[in-house]
Amino acid sequence: MTAGDTGGSGHSGAAARADAALAGQVASPDASLTADDGLIATSAAGLTYPWGKAAPGKGELLQVSESVHWARIPMPGSLGHINSWLIEDGDDAVPAYVAVDTGLMLQDCSDAWKALFAGALADKRLSRVVCTHLHPDHIGLAGWLAKRFSAPILMTRGEWLQARYMIADVRDEQPAEVTVMQRGCGWDDEAIEAAKAAGWSRFGRMVARLPFGYQRLIDGQRLSIGKGEWRIVTGSGHSPEHACLLNEAEGVLISGDQVLPRISSNVSSNAGEPDANPLGEWLASIDKLLRLPADLLVCPAHGEPFRGLHTRLIALRDEHHERLDAVAAALAEAPRRVIDCFGLLFRREIGADHIGLATGETLAHLRYLEQAGRVRREDRDGVWWWTAA
Ligand SMILES: [Zn+2]
Repeated sequence: MTAGDTGGSGHSGAAARADAALAGQVASPDASLTADDGLIATSAAGLTYPWGKAAPGKGELLQVSESVHWARIPMPGSLGHINSWLIEDGDDAVPAYVAVDTGLMLQDCSDAWKALFAGALADKRLSRVVCTHLHPDHIGLAGWLAKRFSAPILMTRGEWLQARYMIADVRDEQPAEVTVMQRGCGWDDEAIEAAKAAGWSRFGRMVARLPFGYQRLIDGQRLSIGKGEWRIVTGSGHSPEHACLLNEAEGVLISGDQVLPRISSNVSSNAGEPDANPLGEWLASIDKLLRLPADLLVCPAHGEPFRGLHTRLIALRDEHHERLDAVAAALAEAPRRVIDCFGLLFRREIGADHIGLATGETLAHLRYLEQAGRVRREDRDGVWWWTAA
């Protein structure tokens, strides 16, 4: 047995049990469930990257601040990876780390962790597993890691409950509400049939079994980790109650998907909560994050650590408003359906692969405008036409 199989000294039994539990589950890579990167083109001008394009290799950690170390977990799809941030915890006799975000329940991801257990994390343990939010690339291996190290999982209640609800929602057929929304947004029969044929309830297949209980994170809460103190800063719009971790003394923000350097986070309306205004929540979260110090080192879930938090937030905010204004102006000329707005919002052609994501993001923009009283929706035989109010 190698060090990679034991997951650190004294954990061989737990590691074997965790691996056996993982092997009994069915992983199914599905790009539609790791759509962290939205389709809105954004400017990343003005940001600086202290490590350039460098990133830790397999089994390696790269130290980015006094207590924070960077690991990279490979992923399929356009993202290619997720970063896991490891914060030094515990006393010196038993070196331990708090892991923030974990990767998908895929062999490549668990192999990357095993390489860490054989490499930079040999003879160390994970004391806690934090998930910034519920998306499968963030919580996919949390249950496996938690079992392996008998470590608790820490999440906000909104993220934990949403994850629990999505895992529990096991059904073969696409819910009728989703079909109604697709038709309302202007999808043709072919696109709807293709979506139906893809089936439903894929979420649970990307996530290793979670423990029964968790530890709740609350906005503003102070968390002692090792010698440092971290504050929870929540945001919303990409997910219900996303947690960022702020260490003001070290000048570090672990930002999850709430702030990404090069890609815009996916902000989508969905049939589960059709009256929600996720873009409104997203823009309010940007205003909230703008109250944090401007010179933080931002450690995102995707891409490289960077400086320029305010520059990035202002670019994201302004680009959403530019797109909103473009949509409102077009709707003053003539009514449009959701699919007729794609060209106003996205700089790329939307094919069958991206129609779901594009629809969710476009609907989020139209809902924002509707709640602001700038546009209104008219239902014509189940198809929604949007016009200026
Ligand atoms: Zn995400």
